[in-house]
Amino acid sequence: MKFKWCGLLTLLLVVPASAFQAGAAKRDITPSLDRPVFIAGFGNNRTATAIHDPIWVRCLTISDGKRNVAFVGVDVIGLFYEPDIVAIRQRVNQLSKKPVYVLVASTHNHEGPDTLGLWGPTPLQSGRDEKYMAWLREQIAQCVVEALGRMEPATLIFAKDERKELADLQLDTRMPHVKDHTVYVLQAVSRKTGKTIGTLVNWANHPEVLGSKNREITADFCWALYRRLEELLGGVAVFWTGAIGGLITPLGEEVKVIDPETGQPAPEASFRKAELIGKFVAEVAAEALKSKNATKVDSGSLKVLLQPLFVPLQNHRFRIAAAIGVLKRPVYTKGKIDERFETGELKQDGIVIKAKMVAGEDIRTEVGVIAIYDGKQKNPTALFLLIPGEIYPELVYGNITRYPGADFKDAPFEPVLMEYAKKTRAKFIFVVGLANDEIGYIIPQCEWDEQPPWLNNAPQRPYGEVNSAGWKAARIVNEGIVALLKTLMR
Ligand SMILES: [Zn+2]
Repeated sequence: MKFKWCGLLTLLLVVPASAFQAGAAKRDITPSLDRPVFIAGFGNNRTATAIHDPIWVRCLTISDGKRNVAFVGVDVIGLFYEPDIVAIRQRVNQLSKKPVYVLVASTHNHEGPDTLGLWGPTPLQSGRDEKYMAWLREQIAQCVVEALGRMEPATLIFAKDERKELADLQLDTRMPHVKDHTVYVLQAVSRKTGKTIGTLVNWANHPEVLGSKNREITADFCWALYRRLEELLGGVAVFWTGAIGGLITPLGEEVKVIDPETGQPAPEASFRKAELIGKFVAEVAAEALKSKNATKVDSGSLKVLLQPLFVPLQNHRFRIAAAIGVLKRPVYTKGKIDERFETGELKQDGIVIKAKMVAGEDIRTEVGVIAIYDGKQKNPTALFLLIPGEIYPELVYGNITRYPGADFKDAPFEPVLMEYAKKTRAKFIFVVGLANDEIGYIIPQCEWDEQPPWLNNAPQRPYGEVNSAGWKAARIVNEGIVALLKTLMR
């Protein structure tokens, strides 16, 4: 009798988990130069004169048989949660029979069209072309639907590589010097053909190698990364950036990339430098997939937790820009919010936490956590932290630091994301920057500095605050993600 019970128990435990499925698609989203195209990033009125290489929306969809998730990368400076991401999701829901979580991260390309509105002819005029934006949102939605239509049984392979050369490509321009140079990779391989369906690469850096003088549309280093990765592996390459605040960049003479053809460093702000960086990261990603740490998962489950929340728009420049229509996103005042959002449009799936208003004013955004489980395991194999902007790495990896001159030098520290993420015991933790939004720099309150004296008695103010929603954003974002991690572990 005892034996029989044991047998039943074993039977229950070995019921096979659902096999994963995956699909991929990409679409060219290069703007036509028939109308003026303002290039995003750096100063105003940088109009495009030519197209060096197309920019893209790229999508990898994954399903555990119950939940469908679309991992989307777009070669633009950023997309707003409202109106862009909300509209893209609505459109996908219209077009697709399958319910799907659409997760869109911008690569933060500084050499593509202005999709935020901040780099128009003058600071008082938007550089965002609404006609292009409507077309772009449609391309993103169509790309997701296309990838969903191509789903087939797939093996997921996770890998990472942390060789030192990757760190040499990331200049950290603000104290404290904290960064993660690891390349994280997720590859989906067809179980029928053995061919690559798609490969997602996650690495923290600003795609701005071409700098502030370039007038040719390009995906920057992602251009060469896609090309090389698809050459090596086939399928569709997708790129997601990481914690790039404070400020992680390949720009500047300090980041030297030796050109094997000349034996000399590639010229600063050149296509050659962008090409060598993209190619190198692609080769590292492809090698990682063959390394000992690469982990294959055939079946299991997905969890997606999303939390809409509000972040006060404390930045006066952004408030004015929003008021005059340069910054094209809604800004809410208290009282107006509840009637419109209390029902929370993300309630349709039981695993989404009901929308709970956090700050109750200003811009609406979203944080998220995705976990992918191997059928046999209790702990996730991979975790994705979805961060709606450019987070300072110390808010993710630790070492938030107090400096003389800071405006709130005694402010309490925000929760550090990795301290909680590591408790899930996930083997691969992807940190996704500009996920589903671009709220700007996310800066620890105790490092915030808008008033003299400047940090560490520097002669001038630090860079960052000017492009941040405000000092309240970090706590709201990090506490939101920590709450989701705690829910995941319950
Ligand atoms: Zn940036």
